[in-house]
Amino acid sequence: MTTTTRHHEPAADVAGRRVLTGDRPTGPLHLGHYFGTLQNRVRLQRQGAELFVVVADYQVITDRDVADRLTEHSEGLVADYLATGLDPDRATIFAHSAVPALNQLLLPFLSLVSVAELSRNPTVKDEIAHSRQSAVSGLMFTYPVHQAADILFCKAGLVPVGQDQLPHLEIARTVARRFNERYGEGIFPAPEALLSDAPLLLGTDGTKMSKSRGNAVPLAADEDETARLIRAARTDADRRITYDPAGRPGVAGLLLLAALCQGRAPEQIAEETGDGGAAALKRTVTEAVNEHLRPIRARRAELAADRSYLRDVLRTGAERANAVADATLAEVRVAMGSVGSV
Ligand code: ATP
Ligand code: MG
Repeated sequence: MTTTTRHHEPAADVAGRRVLTGDRPTGPLHLGHYFGTLQNRVRLQRQGAELFVVVADYQVITDRDVADRLTEHSEGLVADYLATGLDPDRATIFAHSAVPALNQLLLPFLSLVSVAELSRNPTVKDEIAHSRQSAVSGLMFTYPVHQAADILFCKAGLVPVGQDQLPHLEIARTVARRFNERYGEGIFPAPEALLSDAPLLLGTDGTKMSKSRGNAVPLAADEDETARLIRAARTDADRRITYDPAGRPGVAGLLLLAALCQGRAPEQIAEETGDGGAAALKRTVTEAVNEHLRPIRARRAELAADRSYLRDVLRTGAERANAVADATLAEVRVAMGSVGSV
C-alpha cells in the first residue's frame, strides 16, 4: 500500500469536499469507532466537508446467516452518530438497503476486479477467521466492491476509517481508476483514507475492538458496565505499569484509552500509575472513559427515546442519497453505452 492513500490530518481545503463513511448495524458503536473514525467525521463536518454516512445493513450478512435486530441496531447507529456530533441537517445519513442504485453500481464494478485481488484482502481473511459461518459466502468475498459503490456513488474523495479498512480503500481506488480507464477519464475520483491517531484500538481481549467479538466498550454502556468491562480486560502480572505496545499490548491498550480520553500522553499515565498494577490502571481508565463519555451518553439517551425522529433522519438521508446515486448511475450508464441510458 502506498503512503499516498492514507492521511492522518485532513487537508485544510476539505470545505465542500465529499466524505463517505459508515458502519455495520451489528450493535452499538464503541470506543474504537469513537477514536478511530467518529471524531474525524465530526471534525470534517466542522471544517465544512459534505458528509455521507451509510448504515451498511446489507453488509451484516457477510459473516452471519441472519441480521438480528436490524431495525434496533440501525436506529442505534443514528443515535450514536448524533450524540457524538454529526448534524443530520448537514450530513446525509442513510441505510444501504434504501438506495437501490448502489446495487446497480455493484455489477459493473465487480467486472473491474479479479478474483485473485479479492482473495488476498487481509481484512476479509481476518473476518472469515472470526465469521460465525462455516462456509464463506460470495458476499463476504465481494463486499469490498460493494463498499466501493458506497464510496463512489457520491464521488467521495475522503473516507475517515480505521486501519482494517485500508485494503478496501485500495479496492475502491482500483475500481475508480479502472472505470475511468475503460469508460472515460475523470468520472470517479480516487478516494483517500483518513486515519486517526488510534486507527486500531484494541478490545478487552487484546484484539481489534469489534462490535461482534464481545470485547468492546460501547459508547452507550452505563458507568457500572464500563467499569465491569474494563476490569475484565486482559493485562499481565507485572505491577510496574509501562507503555510498551509491542511487549505489553493489554496494558498499552488501556493506557492509550485513558490518554485519548484525557488528551494526554500514555507514558505520562503509566508514570503516574507506577507500581499500582493493573487494578489501579483499570480504575484510572474507567474514570477517564466515564468522565469523557458522560455528556455523549446523556445526549444519546435522549435521542434513543425518540425513535420516530431517528427514522426521520434515515428517511431524509435516503431521499438525498437516492438523488445523488441515481445521477451517478445515469452517468455510468451513458459512459458504458448501456441501452438503459437512452
Ligand atoms: P463488526 O465486529 O460487526 O464488524 P466493527 O466494530 O468492526 O463491527 P464496523 O462497522 O465493521 O465495526 O466498522 C465501522 C468503522 O469503524 C470502520 O471505519 C472501521 O475501520 C472502524 N473501526 C471499527 N473498529 C475499530 C477499532 N477497534 N479501532 C479503530 N477503528 C475501528
Ligand atoms: Mg467490522
